[in-house]
Amino acid sequence: MKQMNPVLIIALLTLVACTSVMPQPASDVVMEPLVTPSATLVPITPTATPTPARIVQVVPPVSDLVAEPVIAMPTATPSVIPTPTPRPPGTPPRVGLQIGHLRSDELPDELAHLRTSSGAYWNGITEAQVNEAIAVRVRDILVAAGVEVELLPATVPPAYDADAFVAIHADGSVEGARGWKIATPWRTSAASRALMEAVAATYGAITGLPEDRNGVTINMRGYYAFSYRRHTHAIARTTPAIIVETGFLTNAADRAVIVAQPALAARGIAEGILQYLKQRDPNNGAALLPPEWPILYTSTNVSVRAAPSETARIIVEAPADSRVFVFNRDGDWYEAMVRVGDSRYVGWIRADQTRPADTNNIPASPPTDPPAMNP
Ligand SMILES: [Zn+2]
Repeated sequence: MKQMNPVLIIALLTLVACTSVMPQPASDVVMEPLVTPSATLVPITPTATPTPARIVQVVPPVSDLVAEPVIAMPTATPSVIPTPTPRPPGTPPRVGLQIGHLRSDELPDELAHLRTSSGAYWNGITEAQVNEAIAVRVRDILVAAGVEVELLPATVPPAYDADAFVAIHADGSVEGARGWKIATPWRTSAASRALMEAVAATYGAITGLPEDRNGVTINMRGYYAFSYRRHTHAIARTTPAIIVETGFLTNAADRAVIVAQPALAARGIAEGILQYLKQRDPNNGAALLPPEWPILYTSTNVSVRAAPSETARIIVEAPADSRVFVFNRDGDWYEAMVRVGDSRYVGWIRADQTRPADTNNIPASPPTDPPAMNP
């Protein structure tokens, strides 16, 4: 039998003590890494683009099981939503820390398909245990700094309103992947982007773990708790939100931090949240509003490209009347998820090659809503 790292043994005992879940016997058989199917990653193809690498640029064809944010009632013009009222002066900032997969069996009916989503797993350690060990330590640091903190299980309170929502997860991989990554919702407010940048800076620096630069999946950006249009149990539209994949349970070097040193991982996250809260303008309600576009359709045959340029690599040719979910705009180009057949592609299309939904000219078979994801 392999010798276990003493630090890891202590961490295991700590996890057992706080969760009452017995690890499997440490035989050579169970020393092999195990990964649940839900932890499998959708790889993102690296591309040369002007935006940061941690923002998804391109994904290969994916199945209908992959999340696509859906607007329930397409309209020709974006709805006008008033900016939120700032909290009274002197109110302490409020942060929601979600322990990924914790009590996922208690998810409400609208998320029943995720009740069995228990996340990554390694040698008797569940992802929820690792997420919880980190989250409680993030809470302690934030509370000591005067922040009001709520620890949340997999089920998020309806239209959850906070100054920041941070979902804490860990990864699994059968292909030896490692490192951390952070994602915002598809439609990213300036506040969510600032929160992501702040935590990315401190988490990498404090933990010393590498960034899994092209590892952000559409499952992360389509995280169920971000989907306020589809789910009651999700963040409010104006809550700045990120999902943090702290590292891979299936990688020994990552485990040396996220399992053996949860306090270090926690400091990496907490310092970033505190930075964000310090630098933000709490009266800037506009920063909290994600951009909005109606559901569009391609008006002709359209090339979906890897960057907003006529010379950028073509990811796929989409026929006319393909459904387009826009989440970003750069000049004359939309960054969007385009449905072609049963697959979805993320890339750039020319804005003048799209049209609004038109009740007289809808595709023959209206698209069904795929389930949201829980990476
Ligand atoms: Zn997870």
